[in-house]
Amino acid sequence: MCRHLVYLGPPVPLARLLFDPPHALVHQSWRPADMRGGGTINADGFGVGWHTADGPVRYRRAGPLWSDPDLPALARSVRSGGVLAAVRSATVGMPVTPFAAAPFNEGPWFFSHNGVVAGWPASVEKTAAALPLSDLLTLDAPTDSALLWALVRDRLRLGSGLFEAVADTVASVAAAAPGSRLNLLLTDGTTVVASTVGHALSVLTDDHSVLVSSEPLDANPSWRPVPDGTILVATPGSIEQIPLNDRLPPPTTTRRPAPNSPPADTVPLASIARLASTGGPADTSQPAAALRPAAPSQPPDNA
Ligand code: GLN
Repeated sequence: MCRHLVYLGPPVPLARLLFDPPHALVHQSWRPADMRGGGTINADGFGVGWHTADGPVRYRRAGPLWSDPDLPALARSVRSGGVLAAVRSATVGMPVTPFAAAPFNEGPWFFSHNGVVAGWPASVEKTAAALPLSDLLTLDAPTDSALLWALVRDRLRLGSGLFEAVADTVASVAAAAPGSRLNLLLTDGTTVVASTVGHALSVLTDDHSVLVSSEPLDANPSWRPVPDGTILVATPGSIEQIPLNDRLPPPTTTRRPAPNSPPADTVPLASIARLASTGGPADTSQPAAALRPAAPSQPPDNA
């Protein structure tokens, strides 16, 4: 997905996230402000997942968020204190179907990915092969985001916490597919974990709530950008930002590139994370993909 958000706090109408603020998710779908070269609009599907007393509920469609005739009224009448919502700009070559739209879900977990796995799918063949074959046969969709979800879910099923599941997945995919953009977003309704590798993310918190979003929903000066190369762990009233640098692999200049992988002078993610964590010039204006020269024979890098 190309723009995503999680809200945790006192129950609010879904419309408070999707439709009401000046730069609500619907506005980000047709006029996003900070796509960093990853496409222009987010019209290839959307989804919203929310926690209720009766368990998680999800609503996804393959079309643009702005053209759903029923969601505005639904979103005004449904309230939740745990919401993940996303709008999608499909990567070239990936199908437009509701099954490819976030949030991906199992039990209490909702998941979304903003970005692209470089060199997909060859670059992550070995990473994917570590999953149970049944998981591969039942991927939500033949997309990079669905595979990332399967990798995160596998770790969660094996007992990892949210942070470990996201950090380990980012680390293994970044090692296998350098140059990937890996903004992952995961919540269980109590905690939200988000990675920033190549795309924008901001956070707004007070004593009772936390809102993590690709782009600020309004002009509230309390919104804070999350530096690139970070894993954010947040609950209402508490935020922790952990640099990814120790988790990311060293530059892999001797590794034989997979077909379609980015050129060897791709800026290593580890250096970006290190710059970000030291407060260097890093990345808020120059994501990894923007720093590498375009490969003329490749399709546009639109995620
Ligand atoms: N690559 C993912 C997809 O096609 C996410 C795209 C994006 O973040 N724009 O679904």
